[in-house]
Amino acid sequence: MSMVEKFVVLFSVPDFVVPYLSCFVSESQMDLVVRLDGQRCSVSDVAKSMGCDLEQAGVLLEDCYYKSIVNREVRDEGFVYFGADFYGRLDFLCKFDESYKVNLKRCTDSGENKNRVNKDQKAEDDIGDRLLKALDDWCYQVYAEGMGPYLEQLKNNEVVDRAPETFLLIEDLEELLNSVSEIRMVPCNCRKLAERCSKPTETCLSFDGSITDRTFGRPLSKDEAREIVKVAHRNGLMHQINSDWREKGPAWLCNCCSCCCYPTRLAQERGMKGIFPVSNQVALRDDVLCLHCGVCTKRCNFSAFYVGDTEMEMNGKLRKMIQFDQDKCWGCGICVDSCVAKAISMTRRV
Ligand code: SF4
Ligand code: SF4
Ligand code: SF4
Repeated sequence: MSMVEKFVVLFSVPDFVVPYLSCFVSESQMDLVVRLDGQRCSVSDVAKSMGCDLEQAGVLLEDCYYKSIVNREVRDEGFVYFGADFYGRLDFLCKFDESYKVNLKRCTDSGENKNRVNKDQKAEDDIGDRLLKALDDWCYQVYAEGMGPYLEQLKNNEVVDRAPETFLLIEDLEELLNSVSEIRMVPCNCRKLAERCSKPTETCLSFDGSITDRTFGRPLSKDEAREIVKVAHRNGLMHQINSDWREKGPAWLCNCCSCCCYPTRLAQERGMKGIFPVSNQVALRDDVLCLHCGVCTKRCNFSAFYVGDTEMEMNGKLRKMIQFDQDKCWGCGICVDSCVAKAISMTRRV
C-alpha cells in the first residue's frame, strides 16, 4: 500500500476527495499521520521514527495539532499524539484557511483532473463548485451519523452527557453577556461549508471554559459581541445556546439560519421540534393588532406564519390574510421585533 493509500484509510478521507488531497494536506502532514499509524505516540517516538531531534519533532507535532492533522491527549508528564481525521481537518480549514476552495477550483479549472470526470459530470457548470457541494453533503452526513444516537437519547428522555441547545431570546442577551468574562468569535462552519445563503458568517461565539487552545478566532469585548448578535438578529439569524447556560454558564452562542445550519437541518429532518433545540417558549399573535403585512412570513424559518387563502380589505385594498399556526412554532423568537404592529409576543410553552 502506498503512503497516500495508507493516509486515506487512516485519515478517513472520502473517496471523492482523494484526487484532490493536495488541496487539504501536505505530503509531510500525510507522512506524519502514516508514521503515527493509528497509535498514540510521544514526541520522542516521532523523533525516532523521523530520524530528527526532539525539538524538530515537537514543533512539527504542535503545528499539526493546531491544524487538525493530529489530536493529542495528556499522558504521564507530557502529550501523546494520534492522527485526526478528514472531518476535523475540514472543520479547521473552512473556518480558518479557505485556501482549499481556491486550490480546488484552480485544480479543476486547469484540467489537471479532467481525466477523472465522466461525461455527465462535464455537463455540469463548474466542477469546483460541485466538489464543494459534495464536501458539504459528506460533512453533513458524517455530522448526522454522529448525532444520531444523541438525538435518540434526547427523544427517549434519557440522560445525555451534554445539554442540548435552546433558543436565546434577544431580550436575554444582556443577562448572557453579564454572565461571561471571556468571549471569542469564530466563523460559522455550517454557512462556510453549505454556502446556501449570504447571511453573516462571523457569528459563532465561545465563552469562558469552552474556549480551548484550538478555538482560535477573535477575542471580543462585550460591546463587540453585542453588536455581532444584534446584526445577526437583524439578518434573521436564530440564537442558539446550551440550554443549561443559566446553571452551568454559557458555553457558546450560535447564530443560525435554517438553510445551512447543520443542527437545525437535522432537527427538522428528524422531527425534533421542542426537543433539539429545547423550546420553552412559543409565539403568540394578537389577531386584532395584526395588519397582515406578511413580514413575519419571511422571518419565520418554520412556516408558522403563512399567506392564507382568505382576503380582507385594508385601507381600501384587498390583501391576503396572514395565518399563524402555533403548532409549527419552534420558539426561536426572531419574529417578535420584526412585527411593526407589535402583534407578536412570546409566552411560556405549556
Ligand atoms: S450551528 Fe448555527 S452558527 Fe453554529 S456553525 Fe452552524 S449555522 Fe453556524
Ligand atoms: S408581521 Fe405582525 S402585523 Fe405583519 S402579518 Fe405578521 S403578525 Fe401581522
Ligand atoms: S413563529 Fe415561532 S418559530 Fe417562527 S419566527 Fe416566531 S418564534 Fe420563531
